[in-house]
Formats: sequence, structure tokens, C-alpha cells
Amino acid sequence: MLHESINGLIIRTRDMGDHDRYLTVLTAERGRILILAKGGRSVKGPQTAVSQLYTYANFEYYRKGDFNILKGGSPIESFYRLAENMDRLNLAAYLCELASELTDEGEEAGEMLRLTLNSLHAVSRELYPLEQIKGAFEIRAAAISGYEPDLSGCRVCRKSFFDPFYLDVMNGALICPECLSEAGKKVKGGEYADEIREAEIRPILPEAVVAALRYCVKAPLNRLFAFEMADANDLAAFAKQAELYLLSHIGHGFDSLKFYHEMREGTIRAKKRNVT
Ligand SMILES: [Zn+2]
Repeated sequence: MLHESINGLIIRTRDMGDHDRYLTVLTAERGRILILAKGGRSVKGPQTAVSQLYTYANFEYYRKGDFNILKGGSPIESFYRLAENMDRLNLAAYLCELASELTDEGEEAGEMLRLTLNSLHAVSRELYPLEQIKGAFEIRAAAISGYEPDLSGCRVCRKSFFDPFYLDVMNGALICPECLSEAGKKVKGGEYADEIREAEIRPILPEAVVAALRYCVKAPLNRLFAFEMADANDLAAFAKQAELYLLSHIGHGFDSLKFYHEMREGTIRAKKRNVT
């Protein structure tokens, strides 16, 4: 039997019978690993503290055949303040589902782990509006996973400023209205026909949204959320486009995301009622 010790974040749990629990743990060195916590479901036991969803911990386990079996460990951070409100919990569920989708078993995932930990920290204390944390996570997760958009300027004429730009989602680039209308004219000649078809998802980005996306792609991870979006419409557009961008590249949606939106819209409606 091989004894192992590793730091990681529990991004998913699945209960087995009355006592046991499978933990999906995101680690820097080995990406996702699956660990069986025997007795992990019990309310009080040696493994309870390191068998809870969203816990970052040091895990000690041994390998038996294809299985990793938890021996014990010590929690480092439990993000307990996520439980203070449903929107925080729902967003955490979605971010962890993304982290699972975008990592593999056995492949290092240091950046994705740091991104997820920083995000859970910010979400659990609502250090920034949840929309801002979510959008920043989505666009940075896209970049880490090989879908980094080139936001330096229009992909045809290379102009760096234009208000608004279009985001050519599937090509991961910006295009200005002038070049877009030129490309549209050439479609009839056949020259750009394929490109235009591929680039059908093309939302409009106000200047402030371009600036925020640019920031999130390049910012140091520990400063990722530290940007200002003063205008509520810009913030909403930023969150919407970051989500559209990532999900278009992944190729499907997530139930946890639908659930987050449904509940979040209720929260926002209730807030508005209280203000007026
Ligand atoms: Zn252009």
C-alpha cells in the first residue's frame, strides 16, 4: 500500500450507502483525484472535517488497487461563510462544476486550483458583487483552459480602441463595426463566407466591458477581482458576455448555473422591492 499526502479542494461529493462518501478533490499536482472517505458521511468522526464540500485540506490516503482511500487529514480552509446565503452557495456550486469540467485526472491544475480557491474566498465573504466574481472566473478559466481571447484590438484592422467592439466569440477575438460591415459585404463574393458562418455569436461590447475583460485575462490571480465596474448595466453585460464566451467554447450549459440564475434573479427582485 502506498501512502500519499496532498493538498486539495473538495469540488464534488457523492454519498455511498449510509456511511461512505466519494470526494472529488482538485489538486495542483495531479488535477482531479477521487478519494473514498469511509465514514465520511457521519456527523462526527475522524474524517468528517475533511469530507465536506468546498473544504480545502491536506488529505492523507492510501492507494489500494484503483482506489484512493482516505486515512485522515487536516482542514486548511472551509469557506464556511458560503452557507450564509443561497446565492453564494449556488455560485460556489457552479464554479466548482466548471473547475471539474475544465481539469483532468492526473494533469496538473495549479492555476485552476488557485483561481477556484481565490474565487471561493471572495464569494464566501462577498468581497465584490457576485456577478463580478463570476464573470472574472469565467473569462480567466477560459484563458487557462486554452481559449484565451485576443483582446488587444480588432482582429482585421488592429485598432485597439473602438466603442463598441464586437466580440467574435468562436474566433476568440475583437472585431470593429467597420471591419464587420466590410466582411459582410464580401460574403457575397465568397471570400469571408466560412469565417462569418463560424463567427455567428457576436455580442456587442461597450468600452467598459472590453476593459474589464482585458483586465481579467492578464491580472495576477490574487488581484483578479479588484477592478471597478461603476455602472450596473456594464457589470451585467460583463457577466453575461464572460458566461457566453466560456460556455460557447465548452459547448454546453450547466444545471448549477441555471439554478444560480433562477435564485439570483429572485434575490435581485426582492432587493429592488425593498429599495422602492
Ligand atoms: Zn477593424
